[in-house]
Amino acid sequence: MNTLTPTWSDVRRIDDAAQNVAKFVFTRDDAVAEAVLYRYPTYEDRTVICCSTQSGCPMGCRFCGAGDHFVRNLTSSEIVAQVEKCIEETGVNPASMKRLQIMFMSMGEPMLNALNLEVAIRTLHVLYPNAALLISTSAPDVGPDAWTAIENLSWDVPPVGLQFSVHETLDHERDKLIPFRKKLTLSQIVRQGMHWYAATGRRPFFNYCAHDGNSAADDADRLLCLFDPDYWCATVSVVCERSDGLPATNERQRKLATDFGAMLVQRGFDVRVFDPAGQDTIGGGCGQLWFVQDWMRQHPDKARPSIGAGRPEVHAPTAEA
Ligand code: SF4
Repeated sequence: MNTLTPTWSDVRRIDDAAQNVAKFVFTRDDAVAEAVLYRYPTYEDRTVICCSTQSGCPMGCRFCGAGDHFVRNLTSSEIVAQVEKCIEETGVNPASMKRLQIMFMSMGEPMLNALNLEVAIRTLHVLYPNAALLISTSAPDVGPDAWTAIENLSWDVPPVGLQFSVHETLDHERDKLIPFRKKLTLSQIVRQGMHWYAATGRRPFFNYCAHDGNSAADDADRLLCLFDPDYWCATVSVVCERSDGLPATNERQRKLATDFGAMLVQRGFDVRVFDPAGQDTIGGGCGQLWFVQDWMRQHPDKARPSIGAGRPEVHAPTAEA
């Protein structure tokens, strides 16, 4: 099954010069989406796909290029079609991939589109039963029924993983970074993650974008007070510059992430550092979404300002900082 044709009217591929990462921009008259395809080092060894669940995003994260505008939820077919296209472009039989990871973390807040996400995940699990399926959420307060539905889905579909984007260790700082008001507090995130662990027996992740203001030893200590390393795994992500034309990454950003990751390791966490390829060339990193930003500028009638619009942006730390 390939659902690309009836869902997206155009798809554009943009390659990184090193050819280990490609971006796909999906458009139709009323929506845009991006997916990113990575190989490590070959598609047979490990293929990673990040796909979008919404066009734009209402959460408003201040480091994210999608955070200023929202268009609409994507349908389950529009989500599945992004993955199908990426798989098709690998030229490899997905059943023969040693590792295949599909991450709902390119653009959009998955839990604000939970019904379509669930249908997409069940469909993808049938199409690609060997794929790990990671839901990465900033934890909007969608009510207990929606979280229970995710627990039930995770029980039915064992490769589903759950990651919470935390990014700050104090709620008032997190409110500035993620201005969407109706969201879980840090302690509510901990409770929700532990609930998911109890329901599935699998360890949840918290994701942390390291920047100059949130990467001190005190932050690591606060994370340890909140998240029990016996149950929680940590992802520390390199923050990328959202604006095209500015250097996307530098050694300082990477050092911030690796140093903070080391602090978490010292405190007993199982840590992975996420440093996506293609940040400087095609906007392949977290929250960059250059082509989406361009589409939003060209479609002001469809892209409504989100709560993030007009608020101060968080830029990636500079090499001189
Ligand atoms: S980081 Fe994710 S949740 Fe935040 S605005 Fe961007 S797409 Fe939305």
